[in-house]
Amino acid sequence: MDPALSDDLDRLPELLQAARDFAVQEVSGLDNRPVARLGKAPAPDPLPDGGAGTEGALARFADRWAPGFSGSAGPRYLGFVTGGATPASLAGDWLTSAYDQNVSGAAGSFASALEHETLGWLRELFGLGEEHHGAFVSGATVSNTVGLAVAREWLGERRGVSVTDDGVGALGPVDVLSGSPHSSVTKALSVLGLGRGSLRRVPVLPGNREAVDVERLDAALDALDGRPAVVVANAGTVNTVDFDDLRAVAALRERHDFWLHVDAAFGGFAALSPEFSSLVAGLDEADSVCVDLHKWLNVPYDAAVQFTRRRDLQVRVFHNASPYLGLPGGDPDFLHLTPENSRRLRALPAWFSLAAYGREGHREIVERNVALARRLGERIARAPGLRLLAPVRLNVVCFTLADDPTERRVHSLADAVGASGEAFVTPTCYDGTHGLRAAFSNWRTSEADTDRVFAAVERHCAEPRL
Ligand SMILES: *Cc1c(COP(=O)(O)O)cnc(C)c1O
Repeated sequence: MDPALSDDLDRLPELLQAARDFAVQEVSGLDNRPVARLGKAPAPDPLPDGGAGTEGALARFADRWAPGFSGSAGPRYLGFVTGGATPASLAGDWLTSAYDQNVSGAAGSFASALEHETLGWLRELFGLGEEHHGAFVSGATVSNTVGLAVAREWLGERRGVSVTDDGVGALGPVDVLSGSPHSSVTKALSVLGLGRGSLRRVPVLPGNREAVDVERLDAALDALDGRPAVVVANAGTVNTVDFDDLRAVAALRERHDFWLHVDAAFGGFAALSPEFSSLVAGLDEADSVCVDLHKWLNVPYDAAVQFTRRRDLQVRVFHNASPYLGLPGGDPDFLHLTPENSRRLRALPAWFSLAAYGREGHREIVERNVALARRLGERIARAPGLRLLAPVRLNVVCFTLADDPTERRVHSLADAVGASGEAFVTPTCYDGTHGLRAAFSNWRTSEADTDRVFAAVERHCAEPRL
């Protein structure tokens, strides 16, 4: 054994303790460290010939890299839709690595059964019924890709061809209809060979909305003359957190033949609160559903789930068995359900967080985040230098400069806020106007944090150099 490796083996408990102590120091400093790092990263070092051991590696990491890592796990990082890691999920994540299980199959370990238990809990949390089967994937992009892959196979079934055997060319032209799809849907269509061009935008409702106009969707489906299609409904758009009327969209299946995929990456969490659950009423009627977990469940990257009612089609697409053995039956191993073969036990952090805080604990995070978004929204609405671009519907505040919101000025404001170290918000463009998004999804964020975010934005929007 290499001497550095053998020394590490002898000192394993002590080294893990050192890593734990370092993590504790970093996590407890989250409130005070700069929220984003905008400086220049160190140039790459040459590959070491002889190793420094874990202790040496930790010292080098602490010196060269740690100071440049962002506080994205902390309470005032409101870029994208980020979330953090609850204490229990962090513990679960550590144990995932410590056990290093491969959950491609169920043989030899209870780990797959734990994934199934967790999927059952999540299905209940999001109000889905027993007919929905789930699997863990790395994020909502992959979850959307899996859902649309099953949709593609369903289209083949309707048209009497097998896409899994004969390829996407056998399918002929495909129509994917959606109001305000996330960019990952277009990416998924590219990966799946359906083509980015297969996406057809259906007009959204008038009056500052991002939800699909169901009548226009009805008309677009009518125009297909009975050709089966795919509809991607959106439950929580990234700019203004608008929701398609899922019940009304699903009801169109009485007259039209389509697969209904719902991207509920973070909007799915509306189901946790009695106050907001009507926003996702009808989610259970979807043929496939995408929900991210590294966002609003506050588990570490990377984790999402995908659910579908047609596990048979999913196995047709993703099975990894010798053709002469036939398709896996019964309860197929996870390697037959997603693009991956070997897989990390991503379920364990989610299992820990749900076991530790339950439905109530996670409901509280969702409701508090929404209350804080409203608080920030109210302050912005009253601030002379700022204005809201849309009402605060759930957990995202979309706003801009009151005067002359050019791309340059809005980006400068985002940069200035980031450089202050106080907060991190991301630029966007909504309805033709440049603006900023502040997305609340971190379990730690408090009223005091929200007021600090507002103060940072307000201070910098008054700067002459903008
Ligand atoms: C974040 C997001 C995605 C993509 O999720 P990743 O986890 O980054 O792959 C897809 N759809 C919506 C609505 C999202 O908010």
